[in-house]
Amino acid sequence: MKFDYDLFVIGGGSGGVRAGRVAAEGGAKVGLAEEFRMGGTCVIRGCVPKKLMVFASGYGPAAKQARDYGWDYEGGKFNWDRFQPMMHAELDRLEGIYRTNLGKAGADIFNARAVVKDAHSVELSTGEVLTAKHILVATGGAPFVPDTTKGYDLGITSNEIFNLETFPERLLIVGGGYIACEFACIFNGLGVHVAQWYRGAQILRGFDDEVRGHLSELISDRGVDLHLGLEIEHMQRGADGRIHVKGTDGREDVFDQVLFATGRTANTNGLGLEEAGVKLGRWGQVLVDEYSQTSVPSIYAVGDVTDRINLTPVAIREGAAFVETVFNGNPTKVDYDNVASAVFTIPEYGTVGLTEEAAREREPVDIYCATFRPMQRSFIGRNDRVLFKLIVSQATDKVLGCHIVADGAGEMIQFAAVAVKMGATKADFDATIAVHPTMAEEIVLMKTPTRKS
Ligand code: NDP
Repeated sequence: MKFDYDLFVIGGGSGGVRAGRVAAEGGAKVGLAEEFRMGGTCVIRGCVPKKLMVFASGYGPAAKQARDYGWDYEGGKFNWDRFQPMMHAELDRLEGIYRTNLGKAGADIFNARAVVKDAHSVELSTGEVLTAKHILVATGGAPFVPDTTKGYDLGITSNEIFNLETFPERLLIVGGGYIACEFACIFNGLGVHVAQWYRGAQILRGFDDEVRGHLSELISDRGVDLHLGLEIEHMQRGADGRIHVKGTDGREDVFDQVLFATGRTANTNGLGLEEAGVKLGRWGQVLVDEYSQTSVPSIYAVGDVTDRINLTPVAIREGAAFVETVFNGNPTKVDYDNVASAVFTIPEYGTVGLTEEAAREREPVDIYCATFRPMQRSFIGRNDRVLFKLIVSQATDKVLGCHIVADGAGEMIQFAAVAVKMGATKADFDATIAVHPTMAEEIVLMKTPTRKS
């Protein structure tokens, strides 16, 4: 049977574009449909604008610290109206690069929504039906808001946060995960009064418990009004135009914006997948095997829509592995062990490998943990403490996990991840001579276990 395309990709985000581009460069005839903007969540309404805001939010506190370091500094205010167009200009530039590179590779780009019609065809919102030998679903995820009653529809999600017309004075953030904690720190750094309400007993569920406690204290110390075990009872628009919120503990407060950072769900609604025979999981995610193949052999899926590890670099790896498997005759699985990540709180949290809790479930471990005031901060009398933690197998001496909370931890963990991925032992860390004077030298200087676990 002759098809219009060798590969048709649905979704122009990190995973889809990588797969489409590499397949096209290898000579495959590729079509890709994107209903919104090229670049996907990461470029358009995720990692990239978030990181630009992280940078922006660091300058206010840094300027204040500059005064403590002897600079004459009179203070200042963040100007959203000046920053926002610059941020969007950068996103436009990046979107252009995505589009150009894919086009240069020879792929056809359709600015339309595509739905799966059957194992080998898709229908575009223009009405056009296209056939393909392989279909790759790379539609990502979307923010999830837990309830649409109780006035929750007055709130916004991370999709809207980069497009605010008016900069809030008071912001309530609901949730305790990556997005909630990152935006709490960002807006706090930008001078906004931020309250964060999280339903659980400690933020960042699933991360190392000791780090969660440490970060939660730091976030509160820096000015985020963090409340644990608290949810919204209901909210409504007041006559003053602001959002009046009642908490489950009876408290009442008023905010300009309420951001729901309460998780994300796979973008599979109305995509025609189940009708075409593709099995979905309980949360709507596409179920795939180790080669990203769905229950329909010609249909594959990569990235957040499969809800494996929802990180941009993982989606990119999955996209590349898919092309290697399907177009280059080289079956390739993605290795999900020791995937490092960073939570861009202020300070950042970089992590690779196991948490203390997961490691000790598996085997006896030694814990090395140092918390201290780094020179840059102790000099000006600040109490911000950094944390360096290694989890080491008692049986093999291998470093099973590394956790860092410090300015620049996202950068540091990238290098630690190479060592952990290579199977470095604690003896290897000990044999490495420190870089002095740095904070990171602590990672090779912790000689005695803090505890055995
Ligand atoms: P997370 O899963 O990290 O956090 C979701 C939060 O919402 C949790 O605190 C969860 O609470 C809470 N929640 C879930 N359901 C409800 C509910 N019904 N009512 C109240 N609270 C609720 O999701 P995010 O949206 O923050 O991020 C999504 C994913 O995107 C992340 O898992 C990560 O993979 C990726 N990401 C990565 C970033 C990075 O690499 N720096 C940055 C941002 C996102 P509970 O813990 O109790 O379930």
